[in-house]
Parts: sequence; C-alpha cells; structure tokens
Amino acid sequence: MKIVETVKQIREEVARARQEGKKVGFVPTMGYLHEGHASLIQRAKAENEFVVVSIFVNPTQFGVGEDFETYPRDLERDSEIAEQAGANIIFHPTVGEMYPLGYRTYVDVEGITSKLCGASRPGHFRGVTTIVSKLFHMVKADRAYFGQKDAQQVAVIQQMVRDLNMDIEIVPCPIVREADGLAMSSRNTYLNPSERQAALILSKSLFEAQGRIDHGEHDAGKLGLWIKENIQTEPLAKIDYVEIVDAVTLEEIEEIKGDVLIALAVRIGKTRLIDNIRLEV
Ligand code: AMP
Repeated sequence: MKIVETVKQIREEVARARQEGKKVGFVPTMGYLHEGHASLIQRAKAENEFVVVSIFVNPTQFGVGEDFETYPRDLERDSEIAEQAGANIIFHPTVGEMYPLGYRTYVDVEGITSKLCGASRPGHFRGVTTIVSKLFHMVKADRAYFGQKDAQQVAVIQQMVRDLNMDIEIVPCPIVREADGLAMSSRNTYLNPSERQAALILSKSLFEAQGRIDHGEHDAGKLGLWIKENIQTEPLAKIDYVEIVDAVTLEEIEEIKGDVLIALAVRIGKTRLIDNIRLEV
C-alpha cells in the first residue's frame, strides 16, 4: 500500500487503476482510524478493485476554539489499519497542498446545514462540503463511503452530489459501536475513565427510545423530552441537541412515522459526542 501526499500523485495513481479497468472506491477520513473507518474501507474493497483512503484533518471544518490542533493523529498506526482493511493507497496531503496561499473557493449547501450540528458548529458543513468536493475532483472515484455515525454529513453530501450533478455514488454505511454500545469515534480518546462510562448515556438513551417506539410511542415531542430527561440523569452530560427528524430532509417531525432519524449531540466534560439511530416506522 502506497502513501502519497500530492494531488498530482493521487491523480496519477487513480488514473492508472482506471486504465486497468478497476472501479475506484473512496473513503475520506480525518485519520486516527478505528473499526468504524475499517468497516468503510472493507465495504469499499468488497465493491471496488481499487480503494483510496484519504487522511486529512481539514482545518476549514473546525470552528474557532475547536480541537483542530489537538485532534489525534497517528499516520503509522493508520496505515496499518487501512492496509489490513484493504486500502490500496492513502492520500495524506498537507494543509498547504489542499489550501494553497490565495485559496478562495467554498461549497455551501443551504438549509440542512444550519440544523442539528450545523446550529452549534457554524461553518462546519461548509468546510466539509468544500473538502469533500475537492477530494472528489482529485480522486475521481466511482463510489464514496460515509458512516451513518455522521448522519447529517451523509444527508448534506447526498444533497450536494444531487445539486451539483457529481458523478459519484454515495454509499452510507452502518454505525460501528464498542461492545457496550458507545459509537466508535476518534474523539473517544479524549474521555477519561469516568467520562467514558458517562458517555454510555448517549447510546443507552437511543436504544431505549427505539424500544419505546417499538412499544407504540409515536409522539416525537414526548419521546424527545424523555430522551433529554434521561440524558440529564447523567451528571457529566450536557445536552447540545436532541432532535427527531425526517432522515432525508432533517426537518423536525411531530409524528414518528416513515424514515426517521433520532440524532443527538452531548458534551461529556469537554468532549462533544454525537450519536443517532435511523429507523423505518
Ligand atoms: P472521520 O475520520 O471522523 O471524519 O470519519 C471518517 C468517516 O468514517 C466518516 O464517513 C464517518 O462517518 C465514518 N465513521 C466514523 N466513525 C464511525 C463509526 N463508529 N461507524 C461507522 N462509520 C464511522
């Protein structure tokens, strides 16, 4: 498995694979890979002969005071995980390669980017859609793989691909969790042992909410309130948002019916964690 750092190199490598008639799968990441990322790479490898993994901590999607500088990085460990999972090449550009001096262009998806995580992280999705567009132009993949862990990101990327007629298939992949239910995340490494325990309140609340729906609860207002109250029983948890929305438009719903997303963001100490469940009711 190769690691390349320049746009020129990644273009050449992908062009060669295409000439050999290979389908190209692409997994964009910020690195510090875990089993969640590995599951995307494995899926990409199962569906494409050539798999590109990008590792780039993208400064434009971090707000002022967020964790851009401290975001965990370990390229050596990442390359082992990526290779094991089936990656053919890692694209690991520098910030200067992606945003050279004089950089001026941004991609902005309106509306669905101002809700949920967009409300508490203004500019975040503008950074995401910008870097993902750039990567799509560089990598020219047939399919790109995104985790449902970042459900809003999937919805935003799908909207962008539709709106800008991008010739790429977006493949959403299920959330990979730790044995006790915590959704895997590179940011879980920020948690100390008591915070790690407290973080279980996210998945527990979602699973129990699912149980309540299975038992006939269809009132989104009531269920949302129950989830909030349940999270508040955990002293280390501070709710950012709990939303019950249409999974495609991310519009708030009153009745739990159709393609439903229950999404939440909660601070455990200084660490902001997100989780969600998507269900067909
Ligand atoms: P990140 O490195 O956090 O930007 O994530 C890169 C990709 O991996 C995104 O599409 C994420 O949604 C996905 N991902 C992160 N954590 C998980 C997880 N626990 N399960 C499935 N996919 C994940």
